[in-house]
Amino acid sequence: MKAARLHAVGESMRIEEVPRPDPGPNDVLVRVRSCGIVPNLANILANWPTWFPERPQPPLPAIFGLDPAGEIVAVGRQVHAWKAGDRVYVNPGRYCGGCRACRAGDHINCTYYTFNGYFGFSEKSLAIFKDYPYGGLAEYMTAPQYSLVPGRSARGNSARDACAQARR
Ligand SMILES: [Zn+2]
Repeated sequence: MKAARLHAVGESMRIEEVPRPDPGPNDVLVRVRSCGIVPNLANILANWPTWFPERPQPPLPAIFGLDPAGEIVAVGRQVHAWKAGDRVYVNPGRYCGGCRACRAGDHINCTYYTFNGYFGFSEKSLAIFKDYPYGGLAEYMTAPQYSLVPGRSARGNSARDACAQARR
C-alpha cells in the first residue's frame, strides 16, 4: 500500500510502498478515504522533539495522520459488532484498556494515552505506537474496534460526512 512517511524531523514526508497490515484480534483494517491535516501537524513534523521532548512522536519512519475516515475491509477474529463495508471515523485516542483509569471508563487519564498518528503524552506511548503504527496518511490503517465511530450507511454519504458527524 502507499503511505506518506516521515523519515527525519524537518524533512518532507515521502510517499512509499509499505506492506499492508493485518488487523489484530480486536482491531479492524480500514481503507482510508479521507484524513484531516490540522495546522499543528507542521509543528509535529518540524519542531516537536525540540519543543516537547517528553511527548514522543511515533518512531521514525512514521505514518502520521489524525482524524481519518473510510470503510472497514477486514476485522480481527474477536471483532463481532463491525463488518467489512461499515463506514467509520477513527478516533485517534488510544489507551491500554487494562489500567484502573481505563477500567473506570476514564480513558483520557490512562498513562498510555496517545494520539494515534500524531504524538503521545509519555514514554508509555511508545508501546501504543508499536501496537498502532499506522496514521491516516496511508491507504490502509489498523484501528482498535473501540476507536471506531459509525458513519451513515445510507448511500450518498461520504467518509468525510462520517468524520464531520463524529465531531458534532
Ligand atoms: Zn489504561
